[in-house]
Amino acid sequence: MATTATEKRLLLNGEWIETGEWIEVRSPYSGEVVGRVPTAGANETRRAIDAAEEAMREPLPAHKRAEILVRVAGYLGRRHEEVAQTISAEAGKPLKAARVEVARAMSTYTMSAVQARTLAGEMVPMDASQTGAGKLAFTLRLPVGVVGAISPFNFPLNLVAHKLAPALAAGCAVVLKPASQTPLSALLLAELETEAGLPPGWLNVVVGPASEIGDVLVDDARVRAITFTGSGAVGWKLAERAPRKRVNLELGNATPVIVEADADLEAAATKLAANAFSFAGQSCISVQRIYVQRAAHDDLLARFLPKVEALRLGDPADEETDVGPLIDGESRDRVLEWVEEARAAGAEVLTGGTLEGELLRPTVLANAGPELRVSCEEVFGPVCTVTAYETLEEAIELANGTRYGLQAGIFTSSLETALAAAQRLEFGGVTINEAPSFRTDQMPYGGVKDSGNTREGPAWAVRELTEERLVVIEL
Ligand code: NAP
Repeated sequence: MATTATEKRLLLNGEWIETGEWIEVRSPYSGEVVGRVPTAGANETRRAIDAAEEAMREPLPAHKRAEILVRVAGYLGRRHEEVAQTISAEAGKPLKAARVEVARAMSTYTMSAVQARTLAGEMVPMDASQTGAGKLAFTLRLPVGVVGAISPFNFPLNLVAHKLAPALAAGCAVVLKPASQTPLSALLLAELETEAGLPPGWLNVVVGPASEIGDVLVDDARVRAITFTGSGAVGWKLAERAPRKRVNLELGNATPVIVEADADLEAAATKLAANAFSFAGQSCISVQRIYVQRAAHDDLLARFLPKVEALRLGDPADEETDVGPLIDGESRDRVLEWVEEARAAGAEVLTGGTLEGELLRPTVLANAGPELRVSCEEVFGPVCTVTAYETLEEAIELANGTRYGLQAGIFTSSLETALAAAQRLEFGGVTINEAPSFRTDQMPYGGVKDSGNTREGPAWAVRELTEERLVVIEL
């Protein structure tokens, strides 16, 4: 059951506005309308930039920014269940996962408050050179300017939090464009920020035609940084459109994990079953490619498959549901098509591969060649492949064999093997004896290769959204 349909307004210069045009937000599970939001276009986006620029003329001191951030964390805590229900209703995310997302967003705000209070430049050792001697120098860390933030549907609260909270910590005003399929959580978060005392103009939220809003944000010189989380197809185009602007990209992955024969196979099987299918695989670090050393292959599968088959499909609002719907029918059909393509090319479906009602069953494929889309592209659905290998060398080559590089993992009881893999896996993060889907919000998180060009996590995001200014004093 979805929550009662809510009607939201857009936030522009501290005012909640209507535009006369609306979009309906529908439950990906039942199709019922769960909310209604006005849509904005280029005009409102320009007004939002005006408001943000104006707001930044009067900087908010760090202690005020930190207080607001802490208050938002508190409000999220107080309204935890309501926020979780909103995420679940609009994204089709199982309620238990939605609750975790709210707790994580609280952490993102709390950690960002710490950054606001500790943001500082550094001393430059001027007497280290003859010409510098007799001078004192230090750097100031200053907000980069107005930030344009664009967020995806899959973590409609916490990935918005990863945009808004570090930007405020850095002292930047924001124009946010959340995903059209999931704007309700973002607007709820905006309400909490204003209730927490954020002055007008510091946050503006526009929902509407993506390329129209995106182009205004990218093309307007007053927007000094874009922070984008979403698909590479969109992200890299934005970066190409504005080669001189900071365009911070957090993009996709085809997440690999290596299971060595000496690993704790029971622990690996448990973590992989949970992390290949959580939110129906719609996480940028959902386990997608499992490489298992041949000596442990049958044993791992014997442990892994029953755990996958025990996952409960169903209504995301049901407390017991592990796997819900994909965000829309088009995505489900695409994922099914990729599975069929693999099957036609000789891959074996070990479990799943079919629909249960409208839901795609968790699917495990064997013998899927590296050239197939399920192996080298991001599936973003409840599908993983299992492939046997002989040597670590071979496993690392297979894991590195995509254009992506966000996170990878290895299960092994050998420290030497784990560290060798950590050095050679070409990814932004490597987890050892943990699924590569692991993220906690203070970590530096981001990719290499096609997966992006930045790191999020408040301490890193604040660095990306501030500029250093050198100050030199003649003594
Ligand atoms: P998406 O289609 O790229 O959409 C992301 C955001 O970009 C949405 O707000 C979308 O708006 C907007 N957008 C679409 N076209 C645009 C354009 N031409 N100009 C400006 N903005 C535009 O991605 P998604 O399907 O929502 O999310 C899934 C992807 O995000 C996956 O690839 C996943 O791996 C990646 N992801 C990465 C991370 C990370 O931290 N690395 C985290 C989560 C997800 P509309 O909704 O209005 O179309």
